[in-house]
Amino acid sequence: MDSLWISDYHDNKQLKPISFQNLHTEKDLLETDVAIVGGGIFGTTCAYYLTNLGYKVTILEKDKIGTKATGHTTAKITSAHGLFYDYLTNSYNKKFARDYLEANEEAIKNIKEIIDVEKIKCDFTYQNSYVYTTKKDDLKAIKKEIKAVENLGYNCEFVTKTGLPFEIEGAICFKNQAQFHPLKYINGLANCILSKNGQIFTDTTVTDVEKIEDFYLTSTENFKVKSKYVIIASHYPFINFPGFYFAKMYQSTSYLIAIDPKKTLFNGMYISASDPVFSFRTAKYHGKDLLLIGGGEHKTGQPTSYQDSYGLLEAEAKKYYPNCEVLFRWNTRDCISLDKIPYIGHYSSIMPHMFVGTGFKKWGMTLSNVAANIITDMICGKSNKFSYLFDSSRLKPVKNIDEMKNILVQSTNSLLLNKLRPANMSFDEIANNSGSIIEVNNTKVGVYKDPNGKIFAVKPTCTHLGCLLSWNDVDKTWDCPCHGSRFNFDGKNLYDPAFKDLEVFHLEN
Ligand SMILES: Cc1cc2nc3c(=O)[nH]c(=O)nc-3n(C[C@H](O)[C@H](O)[C@H](O)COP(=O)(O)OP(=O)(O)OC[C@H]3O[C@@H](n4cnc5c(N)ncnc54)[C@H](O)[C@@H]3O)c2cc1C
Repeated sequence: MDSLWISDYHDNKQLKPISFQNLHTEKDLLETDVAIVGGGIFGTTCAYYLTNLGYKVTILEKDKIGTKATGHTTAKITSAHGLFYDYLTNSYNKKFARDYLEANEEAIKNIKEIIDVEKIKCDFTYQNSYVYTTKKDDLKAIKKEIKAVENLGYNCEFVTKTGLPFEIEGAICFKNQAQFHPLKYINGLANCILSKNGQIFTDTTVTDVEKIEDFYLTSTENFKVKSKYVIIASHYPFINFPGFYFAKMYQSTSYLIAIDPKKTLFNGMYISASDPVFSFRTAKYHGKDLLLIGGGEHKTGQPTSYQDSYGLLEAEAKKYYPNCEVLFRWNTRDCISLDKIPYIGHYSSIMPHMFVGTGFKKWGMTLSNVAANIITDMICGKSNKFSYLFDSSRLKPVKNIDEMKNILVQSTNSLLLNKLRPANMSFDEIANNSGSIIEVNNTKVGVYKDPNGKIFAVKPTCTHLGCLLSWNDVDKTWDCPCHGSRFNFDGKNLYDPAFKDLEVFHLEN
């Protein structure tokens, strides 16, 4: 199901639908200053700043502008990234933690400035942002976080009363944070980019980027783009060598529902401090106040059930709003680096003038703005006081050893061991509206039977790096447990880093 943001956008006839236009070129070769791969919030923010500075910019977007992670986000604009500043102070140092906080606070101001200067109507409202707990055991962590934040010279507050419809033990409150409608914002940016002679090509998949002498040649399925600079803004970097981002990050999925509570709602944006993580904010839809509830997090590609995803959120909603109506259900995923710090800067030390911004760990509204400012400064040859925080070529000790082990085990299983294990289901055992991997003449085949028994068969091997895919029965998709690529049941590629569809088989019933 589409997110609230995408559905609202389709419904709203007054919005100029830049995001959903198909834009193509008849030429074989385009020349530009900066080629940007990906038109999510990061790519479009880079394009916005660079076109303002007079650069000729070309965005190449596989789908439509803003319809992937950005069109499925919760869209809280905040520097309260869960309980994070105590971790930063202890894992790095006070200056590092303060600069991280300042970078995100500046991003909130930058976003507001863009909205004001460009007069973008995107339902921006200031809100307090709370990280709360309902468990006595978590209070110590909340208080430590408050101390860490205060130690950085920033005002935050400990509160025990919030607008939430349930009692809490305590919360840390950041004031003057914000929320908006991400697609209205990104559409505003797209309009500005086009008005300054920037180019946006949608339904345009980038298949390769090559360095040739002192320029780059970016290949799409239909044409090539020659440029001095390239920005990889594809969410998960899809060029594997050099860069090796596939060994440094994983993807994590979360679910969202939007409910009509049939009751008056509260102010503020909320996220719980520990598992199970729930996230809350309000949003306007057709003049009504809806409540968004997020949660059900798991590593992308790992099996889940309706009960553990949307079911969990619906049960939470019904606890406080028994008469509520669930209007939207959606999910998306984001990249998380092994030290929880995004990668922003040079793609690799051997690819000068090629840049990346990724690993926004579900806080990409502010972090994409931080990233766009850093990359813009790098292209202009200016120093940026926050760039050292996110150095994309860092080789520091991995902070999350457990996840590092997980990545290695998962990759070994999916690339090798699971491929050798016999499938544990036969064709006849697959129920309608369900899927599984079966063996046909010693070959693994991914089979989905639709509600009427129609069969869709694919080669269940990821087109990114060849991992064995797993069946996702909630969304009816084939998902990669290694790097988080996703494919529809009929094999169509949905999510990066893969960009090619799966091979399709024709099975006799
Ligand atoms: C459930 C959930 C809730 C979240 N809530 C919040 C929140 O409240 N606040 C917050 O700050 N952050 C939040 N985030 C994080 C935020 O949504 C992301 O960090 C952000 O949207 C990422 O933006 P992006 O531009 O990097 O990626 P995307 O929006 O995914 O854009 C990347 C684009 O690149 C395109 N692309 C990929 N491969 C290619 C290719 N080969 N050729 C051409 N184009 C390509 C894709 O089609 C896509 O449009 C949330 C994340 C999740 C998962």
